[in-house]
This record gives sequence, structure tokens and C-alpha cells, in this order.
Amino acid sequence: MTDFPTDSIPATGHEPEAILETMRALRHHDADWRAGKTWSLVYSAGDEHSAFLKKAHNEFFSENGLNPMAFKSLKRFETDTVTAMGRLLNGSADTVGTLNSGGTESILLAVYTYRQRMRRKKPWVKKPELLIATTAHPAFEKAAHYFGLRLRRAPIDADYRVQVAAIRRMMNRRTAAVVVSAPHYCQGVIDPVEEVAALTRAAGVPLHVDACVGGLMLPWVEKLGRPVPRWDFRVDGVTSISADLHKYGYAAKGASVVLYRSMDYLKDQFFVATDWPGGIYASANVPGTRPGGPIAAAWATLQVLGEEGYLDLTRRALEVRDTLVAGVEATPGIEVFGDPVGTLVSFGSTDEKALPIFAVADVLAAKGWHFDRHQNPNCIHATCGASNVQSVEDFVRDLGAAVEAVRADPSLAGQGDAAMYGMMAKVPARGLVKVAVKRVMEAMYAPGATDPDLSDLAASDPLLAKLDEYGAVAMQAAERVRERLGAILGR
Ligand SMILES: *Cc1c(COP(=O)(O)O)cnc(C)c1O
Repeated sequence: MTDFPTDSIPATGHEPEAILETMRALRHHDADWRAGKTWSLVYSAGDEHSAFLKKAHNEFFSENGLNPMAFKSLKRFETDTVTAMGRLLNGSADTVGTLNSGGTESILLAVYTYRQRMRRKKPWVKKPELLIATTAHPAFEKAAHYFGLRLRRAPIDADYRVQVAAIRRMMNRRTAAVVVSAPHYCQGVIDPVEEVAALTRAAGVPLHVDACVGGLMLPWVEKLGRPVPRWDFRVDGVTSISADLHKYGYAAKGASVVLYRSMDYLKDQFFVATDWPGGIYASANVPGTRPGGPIAAAWATLQVLGEEGYLDLTRRALEVRDTLVAGVEATPGIEVFGDPVGTLVSFGSTDEKALPIFAVADVLAAKGWHFDRHQNPNCIHATCGASNVQSVEDFVRDLGAAVEAVRADPSLAGQGDAAMYGMMAKVPARGLVKVAVKRVMEAMYAPGATDPDLSDLAASDPLLAKLDEYGAVAMQAAERVRERLGAILGR
């Protein structure tokens, strides 16, 4: 596709225009978000906004947020953004926080902070615990993994909200923090924040609300008059919140905040190295060098959109959500999972055996739609945004046709990605799935791998080729255990 080799540094540089052309050509097979065909990954507020965002970003292209003394402008942008977000989420004059590179960094920092707080307050606890809802974002598992906390997962109810009784049961003296979401990404449902906060407050345990996707969506949904249960700093007991500017904040990618009720929490996030020959090194974030562009763009976005802009974008996203929900509900055989108050919608089959939803997903993907496939239960996930206004009716039509196609030809479930996703979701031996996925990652990150063909890989890798078989064996074993248990328990 390119006129020159690009996997080494050329002896002399190429013409800038030729390079840019090559880059545009390489984008050819990417997800087509401009036409509204994506239901995840890209949050766009339109071309005019993007053009402005790029200008704001590029004004601070060279600056580095590592040293707030050197670039007081960036410090100002960060502080203003944190303050504005604190106001939006009903914090007080004591609310503090940091601007970070994304939701994952905000989450890593919150978990690290609570681990440090536990070490300070209860140094005798050897292995602090992080108690999360099963639906909490994997960044929490990553954080527990990175920082050596024991992860405990509280189950959810039939309505996809975390079981309050499970939180009560699982919380103990080693719990460094409890995590709930507003909303969680899986079904777009808000956990019972007030009920959980009553428990954590009484026990003196910090409560983090992950509003990475909801922080700049739910407040506008509420202002537009739809019922939203309380979840932010208005709830006594909520000690921190993560909220992404680069999702429904429509900022440039690389911007999120973590907010704390007061400095008493944030202080444990600070890292200081005192003995380095390079000088005393203080940092509140995970990265060292911090690009100025996303920080500047986050600040500029809040200023350019204003409440009016956000309300307008949210109104349109809700229109898309309502059209999609109505479309799903009018299609026999599929249904919306849970009761999403905001703009994330997950839907699946009313009878997964009769109508495997991943087969429906394959038919939709073949038409160029891009969305997420979730498991437990299997469903299709749509992040609705203003950019889908142009396409939601087409999507609903294609969805109806896809459901018909799978009903007419159930063998579609055994083909393509549906077979793989279906199997991955079903295999009870999750350790086996983890090993298999790590194999895939080894292939993706192998020397020189740019576009590995995963189906080839499945055929050539003995473990992956056998996963189907292993999975079937593991499933039979699980079934037998269930039967035996059932017999013992008299069912
Ligand atoms: C996106 C998201 C995250 C992670 O944010 P990144 O910016 O992708 O790192 C965490 N929690 C929820 C609920 C999210 O939707």
C-alpha cells in the first residue's frame, strides 16, 4: 500500500505530503466513525467542534505538564477543569483532584491512593482488599493487579445493579475501598450508590464512584428532566469520583479527572523521590512527561460547549438512545438488558439458544457497523452519541434484518466470529481463556506484526486450535458438577 518501506528510519526523510497521504491510505480499513457507523470508541461533537479542539490542542502541542511551575498555563487549565468538574458533580469548596491521561489512569490513581491510605491508617493489614461490583471496569482489576490488592467481586442482581447485601457481607477490616459505577459500561445501569454509601460511611471505608463514562453525561440527563438516582458528591459517603473528559466531555483524547472529597484523600496520591541525582522529583500522576495538548483541549472544550452545548449534545444522544431502545423492543426475539437511564444501551436475545446474539452481531458487522460484544450475558453494546443521529434508523433496520437472517439460518451461529466469541464467553475454565488470549497477544506483539490474521492463528496455534475441544470438555465437567450438586441438594 505504501510506496516506501516504513518499518525503519529512512536514510533521508520523505516528503511530508507523501507521508500524510500514506497515513490517510493506511486508515482505509479503520472503523468508519464519521458516517456514524461506530457505537463505541469515538465520541464526536461534529466537525466544527473537532476543528476548534485541534486548534486548542495544538496551541499547547509542545508544552509539558510535568512541571507545573514551568508552565503555569497548564496548571491553570488543570485546576480550572478540576474545579469545574467538582462543581458539576456537586462537590464542595474542599473538592480536589487531578487531570489525568484517561479513565484508566484516574482509576489506577484512586486505587493506589486508597492502598496508601490503608498503609498509613492500618499498617498491619498485609493484603488490602478492593471490593468492586462484577460490572466495574477492568481498569480496577488492572489496578489491583498492579498495586497488589486482593480483588473481591460483589455479584449483581437481575437488574444488573450490584447486590447491596453482598457488599455488606464482603466488606471487612481489610477493605481499602469499595467501587460502584454510574453507570457501568456493561448495561449502562447505575449501581445503588446511596445504599452502598450508607454501608461504607458507617464502616469508615472509602467509596469510589466510577463515572468515567457518566460524569459528563448523567448531569445533563438529569438537567433535561429524566429521573437519575443520586450518585455524585451529593451522596454522603462518596469519597472519590472518576470522570472522563474524553468521552461525553467531547474533549481531545487523553483527558479525565479523579476528584476526591478533600485533600485528606488526595494527599496519598502524591509521589516524591528525594534522592535522585537529577533532583527532587514530585509527581501526582502516573506518567512523567504530560502532553500539554489534551490538558489545554479539555479546558477549552468546557469553555466552548458550555452548558447549552452539552445539553444539546445530550438531547440528541438521548434521541438516538430512545430510537434504538424502541427499535429493539419492536423486534421480536431481542430485548434491552436492564434499565439504562443514560445513553449506553445493551441488548440481547430473549432466548440465546434459539437466537444467538453474536450471530446477529456478525451479520451487523458485515454491514460495516462497529460495536462491542459483551458476555455474561451475551449482548451487543451501543454507546449512543450525537454522531449516531444520522445512522440510528439504518442501524435499527439492519438489526431487524440481521435477527431475521439468523432465525432463517441458525447455522450462522457456528460461523465466523460468533463461534469464537460464543465459545470464549461460555468456557467455564477462565484460566484457559486467559492463556489463549495471551497467546493471541503474543501474536499481535510479535516482531513486525502489523495485521495478524487471528483466524490463521487459531488454526496454527495448537492451544488455540484445541480451545474449542478443551472448552467442550470443561463445559461437560462443569455440567456434571452441577448435576451432582443438584442431586446432593435434592433438586
Ligand atoms: C471508559 C471507561 C473506563 C476507562 O477509561 P479509559 O479512558 O478507557 O481508560 C472506566 N470506567 C468506565 C465505566 C468506562 O466507561
